[in-house]
Amino acid sequence: MNAVDPDDFFEEIAASLDRFEHVPDDVLWEIVTRDGSCLWLYRLGLEPVWTGDVVTDRELAARICAGCSARLACLELELRTSGDQTLGVWGALPAEDVRAVFPVWLGRRRRRGGERGGWR
Ligand code: SF4
Repeated sequence: MNAVDPDDFFEEIAASLDRFEHVPDDVLWEIVTRDGSCLWLYRLGLEPVWTGDVVTDRELAARICAGCSARLACLELELRTSGDQTLGVWGALPAEDVRAVFPVWLGRRRRRGGERGGWR
């Protein structure tokens, strides 16, 4: 089995977000708050039981995110709003991976010459 090149992995993730390039923040916010699995758990009174252990809680968050239909919109919004300052798990990625995706995502936006560039 071939090892996955981390550069390819992060490039692939960043490329999957190109579709959101021209989607306004408020629309992304609406998608995430309407469809986000984590928010539905709270609405339904099924709050995850957080342990306070970083590794365990990260795994639980990643499992919740993995089944979330708003996963990519959530990651796009997190990259726009927190960028390389992100904490926690967003779009099924731990903060380290979101931070690693950030410069790749930003580079794509700048190369594509989008009207917003995606980052303020
Ligand atoms: S990807 Fe994760 S953090 Fe984002 S809305 Fe979905 S469940 Fe919540």
